[in-house]
Amino acid sequence: MPIRATVWNEFVHERENATVKAIYPEGIHRTIAAALSSDEGIDASTATLDEPEHGLSVERLAKTDVLLWWGHKAHGEVSDSVVDRVQQRVFEGMGLIVLHSGHFSKIFKRVMGAPCSLRWREAGERERLWAINRSHPIAQGVGDFIELTNSEMYGEPFLVPEPMETVFVSWYEGGEVFRSGLTYQRGAGRIFYFGPGHETYPIYHDAQIQQVLRNAVRWAHNPARPWLDVSTAPNVPVDQAPEKIEKRGGSLHAAGEEGFR
Ligand code: ZN
Repeated sequence: MPIRATVWNEFVHERENATVKAIYPEGIHRTIAAALSSDEGIDASTATLDEPEHGLSVERLAKTDVLLWWGHKAHGEVSDSVVDRVQQRVFEGMGLIVLHSGHFSKIFKRVMGAPCSLRWREAGERERLWAINRSHPIAQGVGDFIELTNSEMYGEPFLVPEPMETVFVSWYEGGEVFRSGLTYQRGAGRIFYFGPGHETYPIYHDAQIQQVLRNAVRWAHNPARPWLDVSTAPNVPVDQAPEKIEKRGGSLHAAGEEGFR
């Protein structure tokens, strides 16, 4: 069964800005979905902000193994209830790939629990994404580095928690560096943040960038079935805890005389 990837995009710039529309006439989400679909092991579809429930209904998320997220102008328009739902699915095992300006999305800030701020400069400068973790599945097939002739600079300090792994570090012509490919796990869900992807540059048309996205979908996919349903997971009350607990001196201590019951 192929990995079911849903590419979510706010889909605002492409409809408001002629430059962006010329690069992504069908929207960033459709370009990325087409790139993913060139892998026969990935079944990619799309969802956008304007759809009912932003295209991320319970039913839709139940059929999503890996969710990719592109947003920039409309982070504030994403409903908190949808963010709650996506977060729960990540905890249960759904992969999440957050792209570029998605660093400030509600869902990324939620799962990071950190400001997620960074330095930036839009000057069309050269970026080299060095694959510093070359044995990592996400870095396969891209060589020593990916070079983007025109990119938006994203620089450190990037205020995210220390990642599980750093796959890419970017160098920019202007001198800054940035941890541009980071992995995390929250609950059972794997998360990958990938820095490049400013809307006025044709970055998602780049063959190596597309390779990274396909690799990331495969890496983030959790093949376990069934996933844990967090909403129905048993919450054991203290008085029913398998280890006997007594209250002593105002705090709880294990009694010790019986281990199980
Ligand atoms: Zn940007």
